[in-house]
Amino acid sequence: MVLLPARRALLAAGRRWLPRHYAPVAARPSSGAGGEPESEGPGRDTALLRHLLLKLRATGPVTVAEYMREALTNPGQGYYTRRGGIGESGDFITSPEITQVFGELIGIWFVSEWIAAGKPKAFQLVELGPGRGTLTDDMLRVFKQLASLLSKCDVSIHLVEVSPKLSEIQALLLTGGKVQSNPEDNSAYMKGVSKTGIPISWYRDIQDIPPGYSFYLAHEFFDALPIHKFQRTEKGWREVLVDIDPEVPDQLRFVLSPSRTPAMEIFLQPEETRDHVEVCPEAGVIIQRLASRIEEDGGAALVADYGHDGTKTDTFRGFRDHKLHDVLTAPGTADLTADVDFSYLRKMAQGRTATLGPIKQREFLKNMGIDVRLQVLLQNSHDTATHKQLLHSYDMLMNPEKMGDCFNFFALLPHQRLAHPDKKHKQESKSSLPPVAGFSELLMK
Ligand code: SAH
Repeated sequence: MVLLPARRALLAAGRRWLPRHYAPVAARPSSGAGGEPESEGPGRDTALLRHLLLKLRATGPVTVAEYMREALTNPGQGYYTRRGGIGESGDFITSPEITQVFGELIGIWFVSEWIAAGKPKAFQLVELGPGRGTLTDDMLRVFKQLASLLSKCDVSIHLVEVSPKLSEIQALLLTGGKVQSNPEDNSAYMKGVSKTGIPISWYRDIQDIPPGYSFYLAHEFFDALPIHKFQRTEKGWREVLVDIDPEVPDQLRFVLSPSRTPAMEIFLQPEETRDHVEVCPEAGVIIQRLASRIEEDGGAALVADYGHDGTKTDTFRGFRDHKLHDVLTAPGTADLTADVDFSYLRKMAQGRTATLGPIKQREFLKNMGIDVRLQVLLQNSHDTATHKQLLHSYDMLMNPEKMGDCFNFFALLPHQRLAHPDKKHKQESKSSLPPVAGFSELLMK
């Protein structure tokens, strides 16, 4: 285990923030904006709202997916492009921002999978949506602590990030700001070298990453991808769309499509039993790509997010300044998110890889040894504020009422990682294949 002091920023007493999986939003797909409008008056009228109003006047209602894409990643005015407020002073907090222990345990997960794969000579660590870069930074420190183990392995970092603002923050944290923009030699839009000497490249799309044995990590990434929403009505299924409210100037509202829509034909399952369904096609495409890459080049993918296994209905919600925010008010100023449907991700792997999970965050972290890690940190810290903070962050991650139950871990692994390809050796392989850490107890040799 790697010993590191607790994250300094979190030692400040008293926390006001709220993880964004808290407090459900009422389902109001066809009755105007969902949830209570939080920001009346100044601040409601945003450049993005004006752009959307013009567009809606010209073309009519748009799908929720199109609205969400604009609100989050519009190149000039999207939430992640302009604001991307992750952390205490932002709009929502994530596990890596709460405690370094989280990133350390994830780093150990990848090292343990690298060992189980027979210590390949090189691996690419790919993070999708790295936020402030904290998780990668914590993993890089683990790799440094395990330098003797990894010394013969050629490690490189590959970050998939669409937000120029967040990529700047990541570059500053990971490289001290020493980066080259628009390098000529490949499809990365930025390159640098980590403080620990590991090359880092930034991309807009996973397809731009060179092939090769790779580990993929997506923490609170899939929930930020655009969803379609479908509602069962007396006339059959309809798609939820976003339109201008004719009764309130410059306000948006949800409406139902008058008839079936193309998205419904493609994404709605005939055997669906729920009355309201959210589908995230982009998540499906990304999982397909990850599964193909792992099938061809080897590696593993670890997905951690809040979500469900194909059971939930209306989970679309917004967060601003650690409070719930009406998703249709002041687009571009709030984070929009929807629970990840892990059953859909599993289906979209299309059998190209094996899948594990989803399992609850508290089980995964317990299996990874978070209790031992906490005890070591507590023994090594000598002031009460640090003790209090360590216990508080442990509680945030592990308490079933906080992040322990609603966050899930899910993995894609090559089939041969779980079962020996030669069936004759089935008995033998069972004992020789090490269990996958996190999903079983960590055994690091
Ligand atoms: N993983 C981080 C941040 C989560 S927020 C953490 O846990 O703290 C979501 C991240 O995904 C942000 O970095 C955002 O800019 C990025 N993002 C959102 N949509 C994206 C897309 N379509 N492609 C790539 N990155 C995206």
